[in-house]
Amino acid sequence: MFLFAGEMDCSGPAEPPMTAWEQVAVECVLTAPDGGAPLSGAGVLQPVSQACAEAMGEAIAMDWESFDETPRAFTTAVTPAEIVIGGALVAAGTQGFTVGAALDEQAPATMTARLERFRGLDDLVDDDDAGLLWAPFLADAVDEVHYTGSADYVMRYSEGRIDVGDLDGEEDVGLSAGAEAVLVPQAASFLVHEASHSFYAGHGSCEPLETTPYVWCDDTSDGAYGVGAWWLWTWLGANADRLDEFHCREAQHALYEQCQRIVDVAGFAACAGVEIECG
Ligand SMILES: [Zn+2]
Repeated sequence: MFLFAGEMDCSGPAEPPMTAWEQVAVECVLTAPDGGAPLSGAGVLQPVSQACAEAMGEAIAMDWESFDETPRAFTTAVTPAEIVIGGALVAAGTQGFTVGAALDEQAPATMTARLERFRGLDDLVDDDDAGLLWAPFLADAVDEVHYTGSADYVMRYSEGRIDVGDLDGEEDVGLSAGAEAVLVPQAASFLVHEASHSFYAGHGSCEPLETTPYVWCDDTSDGAYGVGAWWLWTWLGANADRLDEFHCREAQHALYEQCQRIVDVAGFAACAGVEIECG
């Protein structure tokens, strides 16, 4: 009888299988040693192991075949698949700012309502790291990431699917001030932007704006450009001094470009043009 009981204890009831995002937390280093984002200096990530790339690929349902790549270890994101995996790690990793800061009253209202849902589901408090909000935000919105290499867009979203266009600078999509390829913080802000299309409609005309060269814009900061700008602004505020000058300026440029696509930015702190100090 004792033996039998012992055996029962050993086998026990089966543990529920880990979710794909729990697997990411196990396999990937989601925070730098100083508690900031898993990215520092010259765009170098905390080492991304093959197991981490596989786990993140699983979590965002990466169609590796369309990228013509396989999961592998890297620290500097160079290829389109590495840029996407790196961006997802930064978007879902430690942000270096709190849940309270992410949900500031100036944040885009519809985005805030969505993030509040995840805060409630996980019983998060204001002092928790904002990464705990952004990871389920991505998980909820993204069912597939597919590479097209199109020069017409960097990324676009439709019904749970993110199509990834030209990321490695083979075509000039006019995105960058100096870099040939999209950099990891930019990719992270694009992923956040695309994920927000799961509850924001597409974009409208830029027409009333005479200052922007773009065709598609949002009327106010409560739209996908506002979400991308908000994420990048709060992230840069917490992490700019950990980036080298080049990567910091590139991220600032990406913020500027998102802000240029919002027709009325009045009262929106992320686009108020406050200079973020690069370390
Ligand atoms: Zn968009």
